[in-house]
Amino acid sequence: MAKIPGIIYICVGIMFMVASYILDAKRETSKLTFFIFIGAFMVLMGLVKWAISMLKKSPKKEKSSAKPVYCGVCGSALRSFDNFCNKCGNRIFGS
Ligand SMILES: [Zn+2]
Repeated sequence: MAKIPGIIYICVGIMFMVASYILDAKRETSKLTFFIFIGAFMVLMGLVKWAISMLKKSPKKEKSSAKPVYCGVCGSALRSFDNFCNKCGNRIFGS
């Protein structure tokens, strides 16, 4: 079950809802309301699964392509765009 992509849940859920809504409307009863509810629930499940998968894929945190830069004098970590060490003032030469 865990391998079913969320989009399948959404599709099946929508089909459930539409099918039971149409059948419901034709028969003018509300016996299928339960199935509409199931469809809505499946859509919700699909959305949640989809959202989770999106969250799992995205954490490619923009690792600033620049390598970490360290001051050659005091060794403190610097931002790649720093021109001078903010600790000892040593000039950093861009690589
Ligand atoms: Zn320094």
